[in-house]
Amino acid sequence: MHPYKGRKAALSTMHDKRQAIGKPFNDLLGVSIKVPEKINTDLLGTFSGEIERELTPLETLRKKARMGMDELGLPLGLASEGSFAPHRYFPMVAEDHEILLWIDDERGIEVIEQEISLETNYDAKTVTSFNDLKDFLDKVHFPSHALVVRPNSGFIQGFTFKGLKRSSEVKEAINLCTSASADGLVHVETDMRAHMNPTRMKVINKLAEKLAVRLMNLCPNCSCPGWGVVDVVRGLPCEACGLLTKQIAKEVYGCPSCNFRKEEPRQDGVTTSSPTYCDWCNP
Ligand SMILES: [Zn+2]
Ligand SMILES: [Zn+2]
Repeated sequence: MHPYKGRKAALSTMHDKRQAIGKPFNDLLGVSIKVPEKINTDLLGTFSGEIERELTPLETLRKKARMGMDELGLPLGLASEGSFAPHRYFPMVAEDHEILLWIDDERGIEVIEQEISLETNYDAKTVTSFNDLKDFLDKVHFPSHALVVRPNSGFIQGFTFKGLKRSSEVKEAINLCTSASADGLVHVETDMRAHMNPTRMKVINKLAEKLAVRLMNLCPNCSCPGWGVVDVVRGLPCEACGLLTKQIAKEVYGCPSCNFRKEEPRQDGVTTSSPTYCDWCNP
């Protein structure tokens, strides 16, 4: 029997992420996810920027996960963080980078999985009136995905309107912000909080499955949950000349608890590199 079967884990969220994380953890691991009622994860920073994020994403995640574990008195806990930015190579498209952290205080381990997805509606527009939003609203899947409206000139107490899902609400918020904004312009952006953004919720669900699968895998040496890829070995041979390229040749599996490691062939079955990546064939 898996060591986590029948256990409870705290999930620190104010944004109903249990709907994305609860099912894979229950179905794959037999872990039931408990969400504490009295936590304010916004203290660690918000997407809409009223509270600046001062810690690194991993530090934020640890603090967040511990809030729920402390509140519920559980040794197992989870927290997730997302960040959104233009894609590294194709700045016209946006990228959702999600991280999910598992903490197990009984074993003294942390297990992290990440997911980078181009499936996101992350976008923003500066407008003077609701009419300027005509094409934008369709593009960002309004009203199934909510919007945030604030003055373009900066944050003003009481003038950040979040979770807007009705045209009438958006119109009213734009009117209020136009008057309040020093430049008369209004900043409209997608609400990236999970419960306001079904597309993001889906990415978190996929990531939760990935982490649950990893926790299912036990270390062949000490049986600790969380056996998975921790590093890669580069040096895939060029298919034309055989010289070693900088492409990934093998994946290194590791345990979150002991030092045991094992090299395995790539999961995708690729054993040679295209000459495109070869310093000899394509200098
Ligand atoms: Zn070559
Ligand atoms: Zn181990």
